[in-house]
Amino acid sequence: MTDKQRAQLAKQTDLAQRMAQHGVNLVDCPDCGSTLLHETNEADISCPFCGFESEPADFPDHFYEGFEQSAEFQDND
Ligand SMILES: [Zn+2]
Repeated sequence: MTDKQRAQLAKQTDLAQRMAQHGVNLVDCPDCGSTLLHETNEADISCPFCGFESEPADFPDHFYEGFEQSAEFQDND
């Protein structure tokens, strides 16, 4: 991964944090893996794709700090 790519990916985390400050979170469904938005003041999240319902703690943030270092984004060249 290039430095530019790493910076661009880090920016996704920044933008996700900015959304969270406005009460909207981008998370992943732990059941079907879909990415969805939810309001941070909601007591429970219901996945619009599979119907899974649980508390926000069960839905991991889609972009979290340091995610760009994770193995998911490997250099192919
Ligand atoms: Zn789901």
